[in-house]
Amino acid sequence: MKKHNYSAGPCILPQEVFEQSAQALLDFNQSGLSILEISHRSKDFIAVMEEARALVLELLGLEGKGYQVLFLQGGASMEFLRVPYNYMKVGGKAAYLETGTWASNAIKEAQLFGETEVVASSKAANFNYIPKDYTIPADADYFHCTSNNTIFGTQMKSFPKTDVPVICDMSSDIFSRQLDFSQFALIYAGAQKNMGPAGTTLVVIKEELLGKTGRTLPSMMDYQKQIKAESMYNTPAVFPVYASLLTLQWLKKQGGIAGIEQINAAKAALLYAEIDRNPLFEGTAAVEDRSVMNATFLLKDAAQTEKFDALWKAAGISGLNGHRSVGGYRASMYNALPLESVQVLVNAMQELERSI
Ligand code: PMP
Repeated sequence: MKKHNYSAGPCILPQEVFEQSAQALLDFNQSGLSILEISHRSKDFIAVMEEARALVLELLGLEGKGYQVLFLQGGASMEFLRVPYNYMKVGGKAAYLETGTWASNAIKEAQLFGETEVVASSKAANFNYIPKDYTIPADADYFHCTSNNTIFGTQMKSFPKTDVPVICDMSSDIFSRQLDFSQFALIYAGAQKNMGPAGTTLVVIKEELLGKTGRTLPSMMDYQKQIKAESMYNTPAVFPVYASLLTLQWLKKQGGIAGIEQINAAKAALLYAEIDRNPLFEGTAAVEDRSVMNATFLLKDAAQTEKFDALWKAAGISGLNGHRSVGGYRASMYNALPLESVQVLVNAMQELERSI
């Protein structure tokens, strides 16, 4: 039986994407060849790459606005260094908002390049809220933030208005909610939450802001070279890009981001209402900053852990344990998780309450 998959990533993808991907492993486009054995330069795969890039711009509302789309490798973690390579001027500086472990990792990489000002941090509070009062220095080459804190379950609900280019790690909430994506100079996201399997990273770039650092860049780090090569400077992750295309096509059929945003809001509302109502549980993130994607919560009485774990496992739920650095529970409700799965979790929480 298919599990209710709350994994934080890699995570649930639409069932039809699993089925179509499985078919393409055996016979891609009725070519008599598997997607795994075709050249990335073949006509059929170039069509996949082109459609995926175009669909990203369409879904984000960025068509005709000077943005380029790349599918790179090395995970979102590689963008932690590609970003300073491409945006931090020699002798310049960057501004970072520290809202979680991934933001901290991005900061560590930027510090290797030059002055890196952390404009605000919620580290002292175990990243359970999003700092809001901070100033971005006008002379920063860019401002970097993380839209959704996958581990601690907080999410930026708004982004600063600034003349400094804003760069955002959207790994865990890309394509989940409507935003004015044109406010960002660059958006990146590892595929393995809302877009596809692990193995490729989406990078969406406002092209005119590139090439201004005075640095000589290694080719693989250079966004301009990657753009010129249309994401094929080296062999791209053929299968993850194909599965990402299938997921993007599925998303379009759900009414795009506007359609999925409503379902995501309903899922989060259902679960947070139960966390707040049920006397056995408590949420760990500041209420106003709660993530729609990753809900983190605890049992108030740790002695109930064994019983609750048995209940949700018996209900067919998988992947509910909190990140190893935090403990407790984390329900990751990415785009492909159906509302019914959230109801199953809520039922398990209510069953625990009844059993006491
Ligand atoms: N940023 C965020 C917000 C993440 O959630 C993750 C991974 N879960 C990363 C970066 C790192 O991604 P990767 O493993 O693809 O390098």
